[in-house]
Amino acid sequence: MDIFEVVKDAATIGISGHIRPDGDCVGSVMGLYLYLKKACPRAKVEVMLEKPADVFACIKGIEEIHTDYVSDVERYDVFFALDGAKDRLGEAEKFFDGAKKKVNIDHHISNKGCGDVNYIMPKASSTSELIYDVIADKSLLDTEIAKALYIGIIHDTGVLQYSNTAPSTLKAAAELISYGFDFSRLIDETFYEKTYVQNQILGRALLESILFMNGKCVVSMVDKKTMNFYEVEPHDLEGIVSQLRNTKGVECAIFMYQTDTLEYKVSLRSNGKVDVAKVASFFGGGGHVRAAGATMQGTFHDIVNNLSAQIAIQLKA
Ligand code: AMP
Ligand code: MN
Repeated sequence: MDIFEVVKDAATIGISGHIRPDGDCVGSVMGLYLYLKKACPRAKVEVMLEKPADVFACIKGIEEIHTDYVSDVERYDVFFALDGAKDRLGEAEKFFDGAKKKVNIDHHISNKGCGDVNYIMPKASSTSELIYDVIADKSLLDTEIAKALYIGIIHDTGVLQYSNTAPSTLKAAAELISYGFDFSRLIDETFYEKTYVQNQILGRALLESILFMNGKCVVSMVDKKTMNFYEVEPHDLEGIVSQLRNTKGVECAIFMYQTDTLEYKVSLRSNGKVDVAKVASFFGGGGHVRAAGATMQGTFHDIVNNLSAQIAIQLKA
């Protein structure tokens, strides 16, 4: 796919990604945005996205993101949904629905494609790697675009470590760092660095975690009261589930935080034996084989019981 061919006749282009945008979502959206502004200088290009976490302030143009969603829903000739299907766009979904041409670019195995043009590659490390691929004219790449896409790849591969890292991922990353930015600092500042309260709540979640199924599963939960006490937002809890997954002997890690009365956002991580995309999809969520999520209703214990039953089926097989 050459993304320029898809947009070349458009006068208005919108780009969005999923709710609670993570590094890959922000990186791919901003990388595409910066590229399209250069490739289509006469078009109006706009990003509509939930406000990204402060660590992404280093990405050029991040302050140009529209978080208010007030314009006419039929405003766009082309609208991009990145890093998820349209049902995860939140408020921006209506602009996708109202657009003349809908484009969906994603790497989630659970996404069957929801656009007029779909580029869904479940084997790709990240949507950011896909954006790198679809920019056919690499001469338009520059340091700022490279930085945004590199951040996305780094975040979704756990710094080029997770099993979704392929030779093509490393080749893209190699090309991107050739644009010359301080990648080591970028990784520290956007991926590893934690605020004091982020570390505190991580510590609490680990301390309160529970091993079950003979040590094959671990679960931890943070309720609303605790989030309010530490004054943390959902993005402050990123990374807790990966730390749980690192527990020796664990095949499947579960982390959840409360979003409402009897409602939790659940994150699942696997070390390979359990297909957590399958588990999450069973409960209306989705994701990848080793990293998936869902929003679930019930008490903490109900949810753990329901998840355990699905995980047990796979572990027994
Ligand atoms: P998380 O646990 O939120 O970090 O998500 C892990 C992976 O699953 C990410 O790639 C998410 O985009 C994806 N994911 C999380 N929640 C959902 C959902 N409700 N539907 C589809 N994919 C999801
Ligand atoms: Mn992603």
